[in-house]
Amino acid sequence: MTRVAVVKKEKCNPKACGDYLCVRMCPINRTGKECITKNPIDKKIVIDEKLCTGCNICVNRCPFEAISIVNLPEKLDQDPIIRFGQNTFELFSLPIPKHNKVVGILGKNGIGKSTALSILSNQFKPNFGNFKNPPLEKDITHRFSNSELGDFLKNLYENKIKISYKPQRIELLPQYYKGKVKDLIEKVDEKKISERLINELQLNNVLNRDISELSGGELQRLAILACLAKKAQFYFIDEPASFLDVTQRIKAARLIKELSKDSAVIVVEHDLATLDYISDELQIVYGVPAVYGIFSQTKSTRRGINEYLDGYLPDDNVRFRDYKIKFSEAAFSRDVQKEIEYEYPAFNKEFNDFILKVSEGKLHKGEVLAIMGANGLGKTTFLKILAGLETPTNGNVEKVKVSYKPQYIQSFDGTVEEVLRKTAKLDFESGWYKQNILEKLNLHSIMKNEVKNLSGGELQKLFVALALSTDAKIIALDEPSAFVDVEDRLKVAEVIKEFTIKKEVATIVVDHDVQFIDYLADSMLVFEGVPGKEGFVLSPLDKRTGMNKVLKLLDITYRRDKENNRPRINKPGSQLDELQREKGEYYYS
Ligand code: SF4
Ligand code: SF4
Repeated sequence: MTRVAVVKKEKCNPKACGDYLCVRMCPINRTGKECITKNPIDKKIVIDEKLCTGCNICVNRCPFEAISIVNLPEKLDQDPIIRFGQNTFELFSLPIPKHNKVVGILGKNGIGKSTALSILSNQFKPNFGNFKNPPLEKDITHRFSNSELGDFLKNLYENKIKISYKPQRIELLPQYYKGKVKDLIEKVDEKKISERLINELQLNNVLNRDISELSGGELQRLAILACLAKKAQFYFIDEPASFLDVTQRIKAARLIKELSKDSAVIVVEHDLATLDYISDELQIVYGVPAVYGIFSQTKSTRRGINEYLDGYLPDDNVRFRDYKIKFSEAAFSRDVQKEIEYEYPAFNKEFNDFILKVSEGKLHKGEVLAIMGANGLGKTTFLKILAGLETPTNGNVEKVKVSYKPQYIQSFDGTVEEVLRKTAKLDFESGWYKQNILEKLNLHSIMKNEVKNLSGGELQKLFVALALSTDAKIIALDEPSAFVDVEDRLKVAEVIKEFTIKKEVATIVVDHDVQFIDYLADSMLVFEGVPGKEGFVLSPLDKRTGMNKVLKLLDITYRRDKENNRPRINKPGSQLDELQREKGEYYYS
């Protein structure tokens, strides 16, 4: 384990300690290297992680206990639970399912969350790193004997327990299940609760549809229904919030909590508000994406999420990120130069059983226009009409070049570098492109990877980069946060925003993650109506008005966590919920 010194800036008082005592005492500084330096801006100290040897001298000399020693994550010095081949990803521990509890799992993409669920649902077996001669089931259970996990695996291999599993990549479901929605529901309804679930998950309108015709939100709700309708003692649910609107996320979370009573549930989720709402306890996964992953001890949900955002796990004394993630409380808005890039007229689009009515609006240069609203109100249709992929029934929408990222992304042949080079052309070689798109989205580290081998989060970031690499003055992105982890969501938002400002393009983003939209949006379009029947949208609103309007429609208020301002869903009818509704402040306090 690498040990390094870290400073608590609020305690550091250089004038009172004898003018940077630690700087003078550090043995590395004495050799002429700069292990501890003074920050010219706040005058506090900065410790270089690479030079620090963790010798403890500064810790003992600082009179204000401003310095402490922490461990940096390193691969554990033991056999992994699983390794798929030479120099491939290693997982060092597993989450522990707990009876009568929902255990939430939080961690970066590529850190082993889905692999762990696959092991617990018997799709893979632990091999303890021996991928050439994997151990027998009896050897596996012997390795875990006298532990909760050992009992679980023994029962699993002896078919004494039943698992119900919802996979992450629900857009792949049509490849495995053919036929009508109602036929699949009939097949999986072991608890005979499908009628209730169909109503609660609003699947009535799609029962006679072929599974291959479902939207992502409908597929997600069908997958949740199929998972909860099975009789099982263990429910493993991988990313239930993707493609669902905020109300559907809460509904799904309530159903998962209620219908899994008397069983053990594990939920992997990147949407912090949903994870916070659904989990009784939390385990964090840390390590190095695509290299190794370790599950932390179990924590209370609030503490776990806050420690994750801090990047430091006090119980394990491990710092896995060198910065804290914080959110702003106020509705921060930029002054956008109101130069119009594009004006669209009022238009309608009619389908057999759905009509979308749009009022005229303007897109401005350097502005991000965010679109929010319940699913089934025509947000994607609106984007497709602007992108020229659908034609309106009434209204003359001028054809302009739009770079469009669809909601459902599918992999294709070629390496990441090949497809980016082809799309970005000369820009690919520019320093700005490399630094502000490839590095910030961490695509530079997977340049040689085949697109078809990317994880959901990596594929999403590649599609965002491709949309920003296409020569167009209007960028339209449909759900760019889906499958992307907490840290990367903020980076994706930053990249889109900076690109919009620097290139003076007009960007439209549809998404359901309120934090993501809050960070990204300059103005908002709010979709209203009756899902699946009628959708309408008035002209763009400022961000605060738009956020209040959409959350009022969705009937949800958020409060802020005192430590880091992260938005938390209020319990309906709680004092805060009622107070905020009265004031009309559904998100910003
Ligand atoms: Fe002084 Fe402690 Fe700050 Fe170092 S960390 S400058 S010893 S107060
Ligand atoms: Fe320097 Fe030792 Fe403190 Fe590291 S722990 S900053 S090497 S004095």
